[in-house]
Amino acid sequence: MTTGLVWDERFAWFNAGTYRQRSPLYQQLTVYDTRDSKEQIRELLVASGLVDTLVPIVPRLATDAELLRYHTPAYLAKVKALSDAGGGDAGEGAYLGPNCYDIAKLATGACLEALDAVLDGRVENAYALVRPCGHHATKDFGRGYSIFNNLVVAILHAKAQGQVSRVAVVDWDVHHGNGTQDAFYDDPSVLTISLHQDGYYPPDSGGLDEQGEGPGRGYNINVPLPPGSGHGAYLEAMQQVVVPALRRFRPEAILVASGLDANARDPLGRMMCHSQTYRDMATLIKAEAQELCQGRLLASHEGGYASLYVPWCALAIMEAFADVKTSSDDPSLSRVAVWPGQELQPHQASVISKAAELPGNIAAGRL
Ligand SMILES: [Zn+2]
Repeated sequence: MTTGLVWDERFAWFNAGTYRQRSPLYQQLTVYDTRDSKEQIRELLVASGLVDTLVPIVPRLATDAELLRYHTPAYLAKVKALSDAGGGDAGEGAYLGPNCYDIAKLATGACLEALDAVLDGRVENAYALVRPCGHHATKDFGRGYSIFNNLVVAILHAKAQGQVSRVAVVDWDVHHGNGTQDAFYDDPSVLTISLHQDGYYPPDSGGLDEQGEGPGRGYNINVPLPPGSGHGAYLEAMQQVVVPALRRFRPEAILVASGLDANARDPLGRMMCHSQTYRDMATLIKAEAQELCQGRLLASHEGGYASLYVPWCALAIMEAFADVKTSSDDPSLSRVAVWPGQELQPHQASVISKAAELPGNIAAGRL
């Protein structure tokens, strides 16, 4: 079977802003979400030769009707008006530049096409290398570089087409996947799990106690990991929380919100993951997808701002998805992997155990 890849040069052209003066004495010459890390992922895929083994999936613009399955008409109109007027903030830290409305729609459409390709069997799994990202966007508010919630719209599209009825989302971005959580908070047909840095962004979001509501209670799981968590903590969270939840939920497709900003070199995250962490998590989740849902697996790119290191993490994920190892080896891995604290620490294990054993939580097997 094969692995698909969606990319379009226009994702690099998305303008997430160049300057934000937060105070008279705060000089910031660029926002963190630049084109660099995404372009350099693409370049490493080409340079390593992995791209030759991947099936290209051509993106399209998501239609208004598709976006309106989640977002409100007023929000679409606002984003379009900002784009037409020369740019502006679609909420909080969700700037889009002039004429970027269509690029945001292209990012969402890329996920729709990639999920279609997975669900109709053209590819076994896929990676949507998109920009802007999506997991912070709620139905009427952009935030954290997210304009439209790409994966939420993709799930609602697939459900509307009758392609799936039960979907799981695993979000390993260093920030909380608040938008995805919000979209399905009362919906037991979509399991949402987020591993993220505790108390980071959005503020006051992503706690253990946010478990879903009504019929959706128990189908939202947050694992707020302490700053400094590394390889051991992430793999433990996958094995103790994600895998049991997936096995009990039995999804028909698994989606990954693949932010790579929990890597050790990220300027925003304070975690210590490295390329082997992402390789192991991708291998593990691919195995679960093969066991539970005929391998149906889609990862959509989210954050990740260390442009020199993010490509090695993305390459590792796509090599795992494609079951191909190129001869390109992460030059930093041998150093980062031996940093003190990479192994699971007791205070990290405590949080993971709590997430795994919360009463009413599907990971705990008490539904
Ligand atoms: Zn992030």
